[in-house]
Amino acid sequence: MMEPINNLTKELIEYCEKIDIDFVGFSDTTKFNIFSKKHRPDSYLSNSKTVVVIGFHLYDISLDAWNRDEVKGRSYHFADLILLNQCHRIKNFLAKKGFNSKIISYEPGLFLKDAAVLAGIGPIGKNNLLITKTYGAQVRLRSLVTDAKLSYGTPIHESDYCKNCNICVESCPAGALEGGKYNKDLCRNYCLKNLKNLSENTVIWCNICIESCPVGRKD
Ligand code: SF4
Ligand code: SF4
Repeated sequence: MMEPINNLTKELIEYCEKIDIDFVGFSDTTKFNIFSKKHRPDSYLSNSKTVVVIGFHLYDISLDAWNRDEVKGRSYHFADLILLNQCHRIKNFLAKKGFNSKIISYEPGLFLKDAAVLAGIGPIGKNNLLITKTYGAQVRLRSLVTDAKLSYGTPIHESDYCKNCNICVESCPAGALEGGKYNKDLCRNYCLKNLKNLSENTVIWCNICIESCPVGRKD
C-alpha cells in the first residue's frame, strides 16, 4: 500500500501511462542507506528525495536481445533503449515542474531490483529476480532520482508467490538457484556457453528462470 498519494505523483503516474510505461513505483531515498555509498541516490543527485523505478514488460523474448555494435565496440539491450528514452521523458516532465532529476547509469548504479522492492512494485523471488503481479519476472527495469517528493510505495520483502513453488529452481540447467542462494558464477558460465543467436550480432541470454515462473503468465 502506498502512502497517501500527492498531486505530483498522480500527474506523473498519468504521464507514465500516456507514454506507455508498463509500471512505475517510487521509493524513499533514505531507505538506500543500507547500501554502500556509491549505490545510494545521493551519489547521483544531492538532496534527492525519491527514486523513480520504471519497468518494461518483455512480452516478446526478442525484446530481451543484446545487439553488438562492432564499430562502437559495445552492446545495446533492445528493451533498455526504450526504457532509457522513457527516463528522459520523465526527467523533462519533472524539469518543467521545477525539479531536478538524474537518470541512473548502470555502473555503479543503484541495485534496481532492490529499488523496485523498496518502491513496493514486488518482491524478489527464488529466481533472484523481481516478481511483478501482472508480468511476473518478464520485466526490465530502469530508474532515476529526483529532488521531487513523490508518494512512496510500501516495500515488499517476502515473496508469497514462492511459498509453494520451486519451479525456477528445478528448471535452472546450471543449478544456480539451488539452496536458496543465487550462484552468479554458475549462472554466468552457463549463459555464456549457451547464448542463443538471433542474428550474427544479436544474442539472447538464458531466460529459463524468467520464462518458467508462472506468475503473471496469460497462457
Ligand atoms: S539465467 Fe539460466 S542459468 Fe542463470 S539462473 Fe536463470 S535459468 Fe539458471
Ligand atoms: S517460479 Fe515459483 S519459486 Fe520461482 S520465482 Fe516464480 S513463483 Fe517463485
